[in-house]
Amino acid sequence: MSVVFIGDGISTKQNGDQLANFYHCKACNELLAVGCNINGQLRGAVNSNLLQDVNQLGNPIQIQPRLLSAGEKLERWDKLWGFLNGF
Ligand SMILES: [Zn+2]
Repeated sequence: MSVVFIGDGISTKQNGDQLANFYHCKACNELLAVGCNINGQLRGAVNSNLLQDVNQLGNPIQIQPRLLSAGEKLERWDKLWGFLNGF
């Protein structure tokens, strides 16, 4: 999957360990997506609550990211996340 953001109404914040960027809508502050540069490519996941046909996705995976080290997070994201374009 590839995601393209259109427009400039996006604010970027980093998480606690500075690994990932969180992209929020500037108008309503809704979380749109989370992204991270892995091996030179911007990878990320979109907030599925914003998608119209969310029932076409698979079941959500329960995770406890606080229990993962920085290296374990990057390894997990590299497997799960799609590619982001347009930032
Ligand atoms: Zn908004």
